[in-house]
Amino acid sequence: MIRVSGLSRQYGEALALNRVSFEIPAGQVCGYIGPNGAGKSTTVKILTGMLRPTEGTAEVAGFDVTANPLEVRRRIGYVPETGPLYQLLSVMEYLTLVGTLHHLPPDEIHTRATKMLQLFCIGDSANKRIDTLSKGMRQKVVISAALIHDPEIILFDEPLSGLDANASRTVRDVVRGLADQGRTVLYCSHVLDVVERLCDRVIILNKGEIVADDTPTALMAAAHRGTLETVFRSLTSDENQEQTAKEFVDVVRSRGTQQ
Ligand code: ADP
Ligand code: MG
Repeated sequence: MIRVSGLSRQYGEALALNRVSFEIPAGQVCGYIGPNGAGKSTTVKILTGMLRPTEGTAEVAGFDVTANPLEVRRRIGYVPETGPLYQLLSVMEYLTLVGTLHHLPPDEIHTRATKMLQLFCIGDSANKRIDTLSKGMRQKVVISAALIHDPEIILFDEPLSGLDANASRTVRDVVRGLADQGRTVLYCSHVLDVVERLCDRVIILNKGEIVADDTPTALMAAAHRGTLETVFRSLTSDENQEQTAKEFVDVVRSRGTQQ
């Protein structure tokens, strides 16, 4: 379970998150979507205990993130939107390091890591150095590392980044399967058709505030609009996007006329 109450975060003068509250029960996949800069990653970083809120509280698996960050870290599986991987380690060395930090026995780490890599079709890369992998392969390692200790709470920030269609499908089904077995999932993504199909519930964040919180079906029905993408646009964009694209093309093509 994740419980967030009156959560705010300022960076200097800028308010990135403004009194956000929600509760995600065990077994639920909650999509967390919003335009770039809406505050999604800030929320997730607070939930991991990496970032302190300026105001409000966040509780993960029954532990306050500020008071008990270590208890929280034990129970979360976190896929950061970007983040350092230990580039010079091999895939297996990295997964072993992560498993060891979670106090898993070495043989169990090896068995789990080997199986996960096989299922992601990168079994033969287990001994390759991480800095020699493609972006998508690296993302598979990040996801495997996030799940190796069977976390109670799953915090995925754009997990499909760089993944091919097969791997995306696998990750989607894994997330669903883990939620069906009682795990709690906060799923940040810009891939709205996946969010629409995968999530039991969707929170839309805009400029640090929640502007919608419901099931995908209810959001789409209430807005009389066809897809989650159109709902998203109507709640978070005040611009005419066709016009924006046209003007963008004009800017790109304007060089010759200015010379
Ligand atoms: P999202 O993940 O929804 O794209 P973020 O949570 O990363 O948004 O960012 C929300 C806002 O906070 C943005 O305006 C961003 O520029 C700002 N921000 C994020 N991290 C920092 C930081 N470390 N220092 C200053 N501003 C930040
Ligand atoms: Mg982000």
